[in-house]
Amino acid sequence: AALYERPEGDQKMNDQANAIRLIMALRRNGVTDTNVLSAIERMPRDFFVPQNFHDKAYEDTALPIGHGQTISQPLVVAMMTQELELNDRMTVLEIGTGSGYQAAILSQLCRRVYSIERLKPLLDVAQKRFEDLKIRNITSMHGDGYKGWPSVAPFDRIIVTAAAAQEPPPALMDQLAVGGIMILPVRLNALKEQLIKIRKTETGFTELPIMDVRFVPLVSEHDIYAAS
Ligand code: SAH
Repeated sequence: AALYERPEGDQKMNDQANAIRLIMALRRNGVTDTNVLSAIERMPRDFFVPQNFHDKAYEDTALPIGHGQTISQPLVVAMMTQELELNDRMTVLEIGTGSGYQAAILSQLCRRVYSIERLKPLLDVAQKRFEDLKIRNITSMHGDGYKGWPSVAPFDRIIVTAAAAQEPPPALMDQLAVGGIMILPVRLNALKEQLIKIRKTETGFTELPIMDVRFVPLVSEHDIYAAS
């Protein structure tokens, strides 16, 4: 069943047809996890984008959400979610709540999502969306994700939806449970940004590249001071 009843009429039929087309495109591009596909199929992405982009909500493209930020491309959301290898007992930390869309997808596939956003106006709107959709297993806060969320760590999974410069934030490496997985985009140089899958083992970390991507930067307090 859909999480949210779309308005009746032509727009609803368009959204449903486009949502099905989007799912088929994701499958063609290597998204095979049926739990991930069905979470995406049931989540109304139009709800997470500004009104003037509603007609583009089911295209496989990133869209502006204000304050210079973007809701990620559905293929990237799907790939990151699939690579997290979630189950319904897990606790997930997300850095970069943004529109709330990625958190909403995660909420359907794990026990609890913690999400941190540094831009308060975006967080406020995202929290309102979670309420309206009656999603009750997301806890979100205004703060610097670079520092993680020590009081509720460790996390079975961590997903960072903004690009870190060169390396994963050390606090997040610390707050990942042993046996845990972290997915994050890392900026290797001005031209190349890669999605990386990190596993924490008893003895250290393993790292695997997933795909080339393009994200907004993960802003750290350090960068803010350096820039001013
Ligand atoms: N997951 C989001 C994508 C948002 S874009 C979605 O589904 O819509 C990335 C977000 O990361 C932006 O909202 C940006 O403000 C936020 N961000 C950047 N640096 C951050 C930091 N250090 N801590 C928390 N959020 C950060």
